[in-house]
Amino acid sequence: MNAAPNAPGAFDALIIGAGVNGLTAAANLARHRKRVLVLEARNKIGGRCETVTLGDSFSAPSVAHLLYALDPSVVSEFRLTHHGLKFAARDVPLVGLRADGKHLVLGRDRHAAVRSIAAHSQADAEAWPKFQRELFELGRVMRSHWWDASPFELPLPAAIKHLKVISLAAWLDSWFESDALKALLAFDASEGGCSPLDAGSAPELVWRASQEMSGRQGAVAFASGGPATLAQALFEAAQAAGAEVRTGARVEALLVTEGTISGARLSSGEIIAAPLVLSSLNRGESLALTPPGAGGFAHMAQANLAKPAVASAQLLLALDHLPPFGGVTVPLNARFVAAERLETFIAAHASARAGKIADELPFEFIAPSAFDAALAPVGQHVVSVLIRPLPVEGCENRREELLSKIVATLDRFAFGLSKHIVHKELLTPENIAERYGSPSGPGHVLRSWDLRVRTSIPGLMLCGADAEPIGAVSGRVGRVAAAFALAEVPR
Ligand SMILES: Cc1cc2nc3c(=O)[nH]c(=O)nc-3n(C[C@H](O)[C@H](O)[C@H](O)COP(=O)(O)OP(=O)(O)OC[C@H]3O[C@@H](n4cnc5c(N)ncnc54)[C@H](O)[C@@H]3O)c2cc1C
Repeated sequence: MNAAPNAPGAFDALIIGAGVNGLTAAANLARHRKRVLVLEARNKIGGRCETVTLGDSFSAPSVAHLLYALDPSVVSEFRLTHHGLKFAARDVPLVGLRADGKHLVLGRDRHAAVRSIAAHSQADAEAWPKFQRELFELGRVMRSHWWDASPFELPLPAAIKHLKVISLAAWLDSWFESDALKALLAFDASEGGCSPLDAGSAPELVWRASQEMSGRQGAVAFASGGPATLAQALFEAAQAAGAEVRTGARVEALLVTEGTISGARLSSGEIIAAPLVLSSLNRGESLALTPPGAGGFAHMAQANLAKPAVASAQLLLALDHLPPFGGVTVPLNARFVAAERLETFIAAHASARAGKIADELPFEFIAPSAFDAALAPVGQHVVSVLIRPLPVEGCENRREELLSKIVATLDRFAFGLSKHIVHKELLTPENIAERYGSPSGPGHVLRSWDLRVRTSIPGLMLCGADAEPIGAVSGRVGRVAAAFALAEVPR
């Protein structure tokens, strides 16, 4: 039996999910004096932006381990640093590990990057500064598309129109010859779930280059205390602005009256009325909460479009010692990519889409304790590995195989690492979906905000990673969805 609904008009908007995006949307709406209630299924806030304990004495990020795309305006407008956000690193260098020990380091120092590339190809070393200038210029031009809440389809710059029809592989081949550089850049363009062979994969690298951290273009950061510090800062900001956040409140169904959203029903049976719902869930999951047929044919088409083709997994390791990487000395407070050739990504995508785990798995790993020593006992370390692309289903019953492949690769670079593992936790795509909800769909990186945020049901909007050009811990889609919602809420 359903409980009686709350007093109509008690809330202007409900938000499903207290992850970074749901909390940002709530803070934005509340700041504009809207009455907002965030409903979070779990007993804690933060979603995929969480810090967990590993064994008795280690802490590690779960699931998102780095801040790839945190929206600078969210940080400043909500004074997140006053709410406890601190950066342990603001500009993390990118390192491509190589079996021959000639690791490739791309950091802020352009001359050092050129020297590192020259060890692989003199021609690439000469091309790099020009490529990076063009990439950053494109990134800046695209910010109006990716950062601003425009309800209109903005005209694309000519250079992006060209990139829209070629693949990342073709673009990189037109500039570079070395496997080392192409493989490293391919990882940065893999967040949206595209294969480097897909038409439309090239703009994903531009998206990466459009991001900014503390005024530095393309920078990636690590939060002191791990990602939970960011979620907690947003939670406090949302509450300070007047939003209400309820945990342990799973939305089981969305109510639709005369074709328009009218509220939500929780798994407890409680009904909460509101004319607007902003959902952090992906499009398919959000629409599945509405009554069958509520959105007509468009509803079904939208839900089908939303299905992700590939997924990611995370492995956390606690180590009593981290052996040094053989070969050229590299900084430990870096992000390391284990994939030596562009073909590794292409093959992994083909396998993942066919429901298989590739022989060679591309992944990025960091040692969070190298950024923030408080995360592990003195002299010990935590390592976080982000593996992608993987099949959306089928990893759970092959977890031992997945685990041993990743550890074997780590062992190749940091010889003997496996002997120092004291705790491990592998989160397969299935584990992540079960804990936090299904992954975002394909990136649709050049689609307008309007198409990404709105659904076929008036009053239902998306405010989570699925509606971002590329899903990341950013808060940007929360901010943009709130701007769309503000235009709809009666004053
Ligand atoms: C393995 C992996 C690694 C990643 N690494 C990074 C990284 O290093 N850096 C980065 O920037 N991004 C990373 N990402 C992407 C990033 O984690 C997401 O884009 C981001 O966390 C999305 O935030 P969100 O607020 O939109 O959703 P979420 O963080 O997923 O929050 C959604 C919330 O909704 C809640 N919920 C679900 N169903 C219901 C319901 N029915 N009722 C109420 N509440 C519900 C969930 O419990 C959850 O708290 C990674 C993703 C994966 C899968």
